[in-house]
Amino acid sequence: MTVSSFKKMFTQLKAKPVILQRYLKFNKPKARKFGKGIKQCLRCGNTRGFIEKYGLNLCRKCFRDIATNIGFKKYS
Ligand SMILES: [Zn+2]
Repeated sequence: MTVSSFKKMFTQLKAKPVILQRYLKFNKPKARKFGKGIKQCLRCGNTRGFIEKYGLNLCRKCFRDIATNIGFKKYS
């Protein structure tokens, strides 16, 4: 029962509620107040290259994808 994200197991364990409770007890990530993990991209969930300026809350890759759609213009 090894997966990349702990939430992926929910689909398998939906039919087994008791095992799901035990899974959540021991495998849920620790709730954090500060650090890298609390800032996540709203679009893809990435924690790296995070842009908080102007209230964007996106990673740099998603910002490049949608910058022209939300009104940013490249001058160079
Ligand atoms: Zn992103």
